Amino acid sequence: MREVTYEDLMNNVRGYIEEDKSLEIISKAFECAKKLHEGQKRQSGEDYIVHPLSVAFILSEMKADSDTICAALLHDTIEDTKMTKEKISVEFNPTIATLVDGVTKISKMNFSSREEQVATNTRKIITSLDEDVRIVIIKLADRLHNMRTLEYKSEFKQKENAVETMEIFVPLAYYLGAYQIKSELEDLSLYYLKPDIYTSIENNIEAIKHDAEGVIRKMLEDIGNILTDNNIPFEHKERIKSIYGLYKQMSKGKKIMDVHDLLAIKIMVDDVKSCYLALGLIHSVYPPINNKFKDYIASPKTNMYHSLHTTVFGLEDYLVQMQIRTYNMEKINNYGLTAYWDLHKHDADATMQKDLKTHFQFFKSIAELNTMTTDNCEFVSMVKKELFDQVIHVYTTKGDIIELPNGSTPIDFAYKLHTDIGNTMIGAVVNDEPVSIDYILRNKDRVKILTDPLSFGLRLEWQDKAKTMRAKRLIRDFNRKIGR
Ligand code: MN
Repeated sequence: MREVTYEDLMNNVRGYIEEDKSLEIISKAFECAKKLHEGQKRQSGEDYIVHPLSVAFILSEMKADSDTICAALLHDTIEDTKMTKEKISVEFNPTIATLVDGVTKISKMNFSSREEQVATNTRKIITSLDEDVRIVIIKLADRLHNMRTLEYKSEFKQKENAVETMEIFVPLAYYLGAYQIKSELEDLSLYYLKPDIYTSIENNIEAIKHDAEGVIRKMLEDIGNILTDNNIPFEHKERIKSIYGLYKQMSKGKKIMDVHDLLAIKIMVDDVKSCYLALGLIHSVYPPINNKFKDYIASPKTNMYHSLHTTVFGLEDYLVQMQIRTYNMEKINNYGLTAYWDLHKHDADATMQKDLKTHFQFFKSIAELNTMTTDNCEFVSMVKKELFDQVIHVYTTKGDIIELPNGSTPIDFAYKLHTDIGNTMIGAVVNDEPVSIDYILRNKDRVKILTDPLSFGLRLEWQDKAKTMRAKRLIRDFNRKIGR
């Protein structure tokens, strides 16, 4: 990969930032960082400035605001040079200073340091979401560039970094909806953790791409004709499942050709109505596999992913997934919260922070876990267990989607909805069948909690039937309060 230059960065930035003042401050940040890192080299032998420049470049592809770009350019200056937070605040502005300081506080983690050190840093990453989500986004870009240039590190370091990336940064990117970053981080991690498997899947994918080329072209032609005949303007993209995505399916025992979303065609249209019209038209040409249809427009994923998914019987026995969405959904689906830079030009940072707190369930869960313990190791292990490990999604009776850790019971669900619902719970109904209170919920269950305002509340022993820290804690608090 060619080194990113200052001109590359500015070319990107000029594409979406017009104000001279913003462009000037970016060039000033670059000059400043270049001078401060003068003489420092990366392990690859490159001048150090290439790293902050590349991080800024990654962010400029997401159309990041000028404060974020400046902070990316300066992100290693407090830690590695004589620069201070106060000086950045005076010479640039207080926002840039806060961002750089936030990134610095999440100091370079490595497993050779003590467990407590790792836990402390991880907690800082997660809690800086609350301060300014842009700190975490810069950190993700920083990690992405480090993973892209991992070849210069020792094999031990490579594996160590890859494990840490999978444990912390991939889930964060997923929760923020930044699929593009998530997917690249997963593939890079797999490349260093299981090089043989990576290469064999990569070769397989190349072969399938080659074989399916004609089929996809013909299907696109048919679909294009019927959409055009019905006056639905559209654009399309082809996508093949990522190497890591396939690895995950295959490690569940699936054969490559049985993966129903191996090949996908994305169709982008102007509005929601056209999504459903396009869906109907496509089904009229290529019949769907009935149980593979998903409406993530009416019920979006908890990280704001919106799309219609349907897998159809394509030509020559190929299964092809169709992903139908509007142009704006496409932006959110690829870039998650960071798409706001593009979609909400002038108040992007405020809107990001507000929506993170209101629309992203994981944020509320992290904030709750954060209040439950002061012990960093315990906090990190709870976050990993309850949020970063496998989670399930179940429905309320109104059709809202609730995210819970794998192994949750109706008790966890009740307390997740509201403390009062948990405290007055007398039973649960799942998919119209009464279930016991310690029934283990499964993905897509429809859950109804039966309550009675006169109930005596959940007994202390029921703590053990709950999975989440929150439910356990609330049951204990309730019983303490009524003196039981
Ligand atoms: Mn860095």
